[in-house]
Amino acid sequence: MSFTESQEHRDLRAAVAALGKRYGRDYVTEVVREGRYPDELWAEAGALGYLGVNLPEEYGGGGRGITELAVVLEELGAAGCPLLMMVVSPAICGSVIARFGTEAQKRKWLPGIAAGTYRMAFGITEPEAGSNSHRITTTARREGDGWVLNGRKVFISGVDIADTTLIVGRTEDERTGKLKPCLFVVERETPGFLKTPIPMELAAPEKQFELVFDQVRLPADALVGDEDAGLLQLFAGLNPERVMTAAFALGMARHALARAVDYARTRTVWRDPIGAHQAVAHPLAESHVEIELARLMMLKAAHLYDAGDDMGAGEAANMAKFAAADAAVRAVDRAVHTLGGNGLASEYGLASLLTAVRVARIAPVSREMILNYVSHTTLGLPKSY
Ligand SMILES: Cc1cc2nc3c(=O)[nH]c(=O)nc-3n(C[C@H](O)[C@H](O)[C@H](O)COP(=O)(O)OP(=O)(O)OC[C@H]3O[C@@H](n4cnc5c(N)ncnc54)[C@H](O)[C@@H]3O)c2cc1C
Repeated sequence: MSFTESQEHRDLRAAVAALGKRYGRDYVTEVVREGRYPDELWAEAGALGYLGVNLPEEYGGGGRGITELAVVLEELGAAGCPLLMMVVSPAICGSVIARFGTEAQKRKWLPGIAAGTYRMAFGITEPEAGSNSHRITTTARREGDGWVLNGRKVFISGVDIADTTLIVGRTEDERTGKLKPCLFVVERETPGFLKTPIPMELAAPEKQFELVFDQVRLPADALVGDEDAGLLQLFAGLNPERVMTAAFALGMARHALARAVDYARTRTVWRDPIGAHQAVAHPLAESHVEIELARLMMLKAAHLYDAGDDMGAGEAANMAKFAAADAAVRAVDRAVHTLGGNGLASEYGLASLLTAVRVARIAPVSREMILNYVSHTTLGLPKSY
């Protein structure tokens, strides 16, 4: 066990941080104002190999793991440029396809995902099922060689800028009539695939969509993985999702904290800079402690996932996501407060992070559902539902 970051990781951090700094918070604010996606940053990160660092080398990736992809997302966030689509496209979809896709599917999708020239969104949440994903009802029926998909999804990010969406549906078991979870790739322009943007109070480049699948016809190779593998292959994507959501939150937390510290060092309204007052300094110091603790758990979760320990990674990734989201929500709140009125001024770009970090508390799984998981799975307490 080593707590010293390798030279390779330090170099990756420094290089990504330099890229993020060249774009910076003002760039993202401008892009959001224009209602478009930070394509320039995404394309450059892809061309430099950062977006596919976790994917296998034989399919155009960097041959590293979620640990390195989390470094990339954290550093871009710390530079003020958090990219939510990294959680979805290379982390969830890329991981699932790399582990469970056929050879042809890997060749078809992974090189583009790795280079950033091809994006894949991910849809599991349904309006009626909510946090209880065992209740999803989006259903695929066999027809001829292919499938017909019917159902609804909600809050699915980036469907407009993604070439395809990986949909968690169910198949009807013809023998028993029971529903089994499985994964389908749906092309953006497939007839019957309807997308309606949901108005959100978020100043982020990714939009959320309600999706309707109305008799959507899919080819046989739209199915990723085994029809009978069920939850196992889903977890291959959900653990990276939690690790990456932690990185997403911690990047924003570090950005906010750095801005607050910078401000508190120089802003003087009495004799000394405001950072000399412990009422200002201590909350920032506490946030630093919380961020560091959450980062340690995130690195543990990423390490376990990359080592192939899916069960161990499941517990650690949930705890890391929980700790990171809470640390980030507090850090951004404290940072905004440290800047006084400027904390809410557009010029400083911090107020928009107030809602952005809250996403990490709700998605992909809420903090209450993580506490439920730890209560039941780790502590062995009885279930209330
Ligand atoms: C910005 C954003 C982006 C998103 N992007 C995606 C995406 O790309 N793909 C995707 O599939 N989904 C996405 N989601 C959906 C997200 O994963 C869900 O919102 C989340 O899982 C919670 O589900 P829900 O909104 O239906 O809340 P609900 O399940 O209705 O829960 C509401 C509240 O009740 C609490 N609660 C529910 N059950 C229990 C219980 N048993 N014990 C204690 N508390 C409970 C929850 O913790 C929560 O606070 C996104 C959401 C947001 C906000």
